[in-house]
Amino acid sequence: MSVEQLFDIRRIWAEPDALASPRGQQVALSFPDAEIVEVASHWNIEALHGNAGNVDRWVRVKTENLVLGEKKSLSARPNGRSADFIAPSTANGCALACAYCYVPRQKGYANPVTVFTNIDRIVRYLRGHVRRQGPKTEPNQVHHTDWVYDIGENSDVAVDALLSDNVADLVGCFRDLPGARASFATKYVNRELLGLDPQGGTRIRFSLMPERDSRLLDVRTTPVARRIAAIDDFVAAGYEVHLNLSPVVLREGWQADWAELLTRIGDVTGPAFRAQAAAEVILLTHNEGLHEVNLGWHPRAEEVLWRPAIQQGKRSGNGMWNVRYRDTVKARGVRELRALVERHAPWLRIRYAF
Ligand code: SF4
Repeated sequence: MSVEQLFDIRRIWAEPDALASPRGQQVALSFPDAEIVEVASHWNIEALHGNAGNVDRWVRVKTENLVLGEKKSLSARPNGRSADFIAPSTANGCALACAYCYVPRQKGYANPVTVFTNIDRIVRYLRGHVRRQGPKTEPNQVHHTDWVYDIGENSDVAVDALLSDNVADLVGCFRDLPGARASFATKYVNRELLGLDPQGGTRIRFSLMPERDSRLLDVRTTPVARRIAAIDDFVAAGYEVHLNLSPVVLREGWQADWAELLTRIGDVTGPAFRAQAAAEVILLTHNEGLHEVNLGWHPRAEEVLWRPAIQQGKRSGNGMWNVRYRDTVKARGVRELRALVERHAPWLRIRYAF
């Protein structure tokens, strides 16, 4: 979807300090016709969050509303899978609407983007955090020598970059931080990112799945073929480009579709990408609450996402019932996908698979 299709901002809900800040002003000035609504907190805005309504309303909420707030408590949580640390978010919420997305589990499906405006404080915090780590002396699957910070846990960073310079500031921060790099997964090709000159300090993980799954599940994202076609351009622009093969959805015929996808990635991309490529593989996890929500607007998605016969549940801390494939099913799925990569994309190192 183009930026015009993703955003037609009519209302900006803003904490007063966030609106008054330079970043808040930048965002507000980009949408001069938008009505400004002051809110005490960017969190729990009744008119925006929650699951009231249906998908048409949620998409309208995502398209027409933006929130400006300040990220109050800053911390970098240890991770160890996609990154060494999860950086403090500079945005929360997403204009895209993937049916399996975990981001709206807390805020409800109508989950418009909140831009955190205290980017200077976040960048200062990150620089200090990197400094306190000292050199990375033990290589791990995340990176041999650099501390890697995931900057997109609660949003799609390539979409966030359409709204403010927060992403440009983060890419600039990690360009000048030896021993550390930023990383984010994305399902959106934003070609403006090509001009940010990351000089290797930012890793983009393009999320890919077979077209058949993506057409059903990746609502409002860039089509998979266009994500693959963009890979070489991002390598040439100075990004490290990895793949996020997720979520892997186990269904009739999944192996053949993944084989075709892996072959196509190799056919379409050049040697520079393949020489530095690596992938993470994540099998689908799902959630009872999201299942209920999806039944109301996208029941066909639930036919492949909600498969009690091959899934097992676990009660989460907040009382929600999370599901994932049964241990034996999952182990077999991981094994089969690894074998498919070995056969159809032998150049692709798997960083981890679970
Ligand atoms: S792009 Fe990522 S954050 Fe956005 S809806 Fe899809 S899974 Fe969620």
